[in-house]
Amino acid sequence: MNPVSAETNSTPDTMNAHVAAGANAPLEKIALETYVPPAKPSLVGLSRAEIAEQLGAIGVAPAQRKMRVQQLWHWIYVRGAKSFEEMTSISKEMRAQLDQYLTVARPEVVAEQVSNDGTRKWLLRLPSGDSIEKAHEVECVYIPETDRGTLCVSSQVGCTLNCSFCHTGTQRLVRNLTAGEIVGQIMVARDRLNDWADRVTPTGSRLVTNVVMMGMGEPLYNFEAVRDALLIVADNEGIGISRRRITLSTSGVVPNIIRTGDEIGVMLAISLHAVRDELRNELVPLNRKYPIAELLQACRDYPGSSNARRITFEYVMLKGVNDSLDDAKLLVKMLKGIPAKINLIPFNPWPGTRYECSDWDQIEKFSEYIFNAGYSSPVRTPRGRDILAACGQLKSETEKLSVRERQALRAMAMTD
Ligand code: SAH
Ligand code: SF4
Repeated sequence: MNPVSAETNSTPDTMNAHVAAGANAPLEKIALETYVPPAKPSLVGLSRAEIAEQLGAIGVAPAQRKMRVQQLWHWIYVRGAKSFEEMTSISKEMRAQLDQYLTVARPEVVAEQVSNDGTRKWLLRLPSGDSIEKAHEVECVYIPETDRGTLCVSSQVGCTLNCSFCHTGTQRLVRNLTAGEIVGQIMVARDRLNDWADRVTPTGSRLVTNVVMMGMGEPLYNFEAVRDALLIVADNEGIGISRRRITLSTSGVVPNIIRTGDEIGVMLAISLHAVRDELRNELVPLNRKYPIAELLQACRDYPGSSNARRITFEYVMLKGVNDSLDDAKLLVKMLKGIPAKINLIPFNPWPGTRYECSDWDQIEKFSEYIFNAGYSSPVRTPRGRDILAACGQLKSETEKLSVRERQALRAMAMTD
């Protein structure tokens, strides 16, 4: 097991006395490798080729495999079957054989909270493979809107990075989720919402229509698993959520941004949060590795972006830190030439944080400037209740979502 080394990768040359205290925060943590696959592997999260391999390993004849994979894919990802027993188009013998060696298990739900506005939050427990470690837990949130339902999905337990305003960044433990654990979050949501296709709703009730990779973790530090999972989520013979309805949010892992466009093809959101390197180094320490200019160049080069497929720039509103009109002006200036949307996120405070959320009237002034500069206004009501937000603020506790959190989450669901 690797110890979590907070020091690794921090570059001493960037640690000069002029930089604000937060900029000395360690840049990255190392992921634990404590995932131990269950004795009976789950087919959830495997590609078709990997399922075929599993079938080969349990003695299914080569000539049968392709057809069996097709049947399994349909039962798992269209019908949401939770056991082989339910898969009635597959022979009884074959079902028994599958059941002996394999499962279609998803992550275990340990808590579910339903708010009166329909927001639902699930706490999922994942195997830690180590009884000394605290159980590995992630959260997943469903935010219903009139014209869509957005699921906010996690990519890691904790996070590799240490953004100074983010609660997840303070957690020491980091484990990458497997592709199955990422797809499993969508499966759990569809299970709990009764959202699978059946005789009454042959195409499903379609409650979960959009997915945002904005829960815990930095998806681009778990690239392969996130890619494999999202390709399954977008597969139109299965879950079938189109790539345009899937948004991946990154704090700016530049080398993997182009790969995201090339290998996954989903919508991109960038956690910008500051317009000057000095401040961004403090808020998003990864900026010391990939500064703003490099990040914006990767956005300019993002495959498939256009005015119809804009990149979202997330900007958390921190009182007296990044919320001046000068910041707004520079923001507009620096995004020139990039097909962009701007989401202002009201800061969601957590115990022990040194930041405060900007005052509403300041958020409105900031937003008005952006609107007048030609960006569709992120504030949709005069009170600013609908400022677009993200759910990186999730806490890994069985706490209820606060009113502030729910407002932020609902607003976030209004992207597109
Ligand atoms: N790691 C990725 C995705 C998860 S965070 C990323 O950083 O983009 C999703 C979003 O929530 C990011 O824009 C993040 O900066 C933001 N966020 C994190 N903590 C927050 C907080 N306390 N209040 C408001 N937004 C927060
Ligand atoms: Fe990680 Fe994103 Fe939080 Fe930064 S904002 S610590 S990248 S989850």
